Amino acid sequence: MEKNDSGWNLENTYAELPKLFYTPLEIEAVSAPKLVVLNQRLAENLGLNAAALMEQDGINILAGQALPAKAKPIAQAYAGHQFGYFTMLGDGRAMLIGEQITPAGERFDIQLKGSGKTPYSRSGDGKAALGPMLREYLISEAMHYLGIPTSRSLAVVTTGQPVYRENILKGAVLTRVAASHIRVGTFEYAAQWGTTADVKALADYTISRHFPWLLSEPNRYLGLLDAVIKAQAALIAKWQQVGFIHGVMNTDNVTISGETIDYGPCAFMDHYDPTTVFSSIDLQGRYAYRNQPNIGLWNLARLAETLIPLVNDNQEQVLKLVEAALQNYPSLYQEDWLQGMRLKLGIVNEEPQDERLIADLLGLMKQYQADYTNTFVDLTLDRTQSSELYESDAFNVWRDRWKARLEKQEQTDQDIKIIMKQANPVVIPRNHQVEKALQAANEQDDFKPLQRLLAVLQAPYDYNSLNPEFMTPPEPSNHPYKTYCGT
Ligand code: AMP
Ligand code: MG
Repeated sequence: MEKNDSGWNLENTYAELPKLFYTPLEIEAVSAPKLVVLNQRLAENLGLNAAALMEQDGINILAGQALPAKAKPIAQAYAGHQFGYFTMLGDGRAMLIGEQITPAGERFDIQLKGSGKTPYSRSGDGKAALGPMLREYLISEAMHYLGIPTSRSLAVVTTGQPVYRENILKGAVLTRVAASHIRVGTFEYAAQWGTTADVKALADYTISRHFPWLLSEPNRYLGLLDAVIKAQAALIAKWQQVGFIHGVMNTDNVTISGETIDYGPCAFMDHYDPTTVFSSIDLQGRYAYRNQPNIGLWNLARLAETLIPLVNDNQEQVLKLVEAALQNYPSLYQEDWLQGMRLKLGIVNEEPQDERLIADLLGLMKQYQADYTNTFVDLTLDRTQSSELYESDAFNVWRDRWKARLEKQEQTDQDIKIIMKQANPVVIPRNHQVEKALQAANEQDDFKPLQRLLAVLQAPYDYNSLNPEFMTPPEPSNHPYKTYCGT
């Protein structure tokens, strides 16, 4: 297949790194895969021809059973701290076929997830099931349209082969598109099993790919650390603002680019409770909603350790520099978070009491188990439907404080409404809606609910077509929602 008919325009710069960082893969054609969902808009942005991707030749590529021109399939090696424990990992069920250069000149990894065994598969089968791949597709696209940096999803295809878990499931492959798949765990891997020259090669590659302006800096490696700290602080602040719980913030799932990656057990919070955990394996609540910012710092400290030999030869000085960089994280995070929360309340200037105002609202939301997303929508629309929260005296006192605070800025009510509409999504991928769409796809081969949900999630800030079906939280249940790692 040539560039002209399908638009593939691949390069393979990652494979120019030392051999330690990857293993070349063979592909094998085994069955006739079927297309389940294709992201036509993303295809277009990547310079790919959607019509060609929908033909069998195109689908075979999306299933990892054929290669486009200039593809060089590899599995990436990486390590990671999983729930605090260091271990060797690597792409056990994914292959990078290359980096697509878009018509705008951008570079994106094209990775097939669920494409089969690799040398890093350990005891796994290298495969993925349809449900979890569709889940990643839905939630990653929702995150993108919410305005949160994330890997994207180009397509899901079924392989025609079964995947054996507790049940027999349909095998599927997700085409993941990301600024890169370089993780904190990639640096940990280099530091643990490579030489300082290997860490340096990875750092230089990362800098030229993601932070090219650092190339002329006197201490580019410290600059790299600062840049990742900034990107992760900004990212996690955005997660908190929409109630997103990643679920498995292991260092192998933390990107250097600052994109959200690895949509396994993630989910959005309905009623506000900072202790919320959805992942069935997170028994200690390590990755609970309220812990995400601190875990972000813990993960960045693991990155910092790997960069120490590159920053400076003077051990004492280098530790000081690296510690100072990490110490910036809490205030960077807090500023990003506060700024975002102010906008959610229509506040554009800064007052010292703002933090208290926000904390008091969150406290009331927790006390009355108010829906996180909908409370901000109600404030935006000035709705006071009957609810325990809105009828409470404490809320009404808070509301007067908020209104008085808004008076302290020049913006008109109308301006404030516009600001709030841009900061408060009307729809998020509600767990029960996601489950419903996946069930129809999985059990009845009915992809219409999935497509409908996707369409709604593509316009999360659209206040013109409020659809109660997608805004309503689930009925209270005695069985809290549980998520599973997407194997
Ligand atoms: P994750 O939970 O997706 O971040 O994956 C953690 C590690 O397990 C990564 O090294 C994956 O490549 C690997 N892994 C997950 N599922 C499978 C599978 N079905 N087969 C082989 N390796 C897997
Ligand atoms: Mg992972």
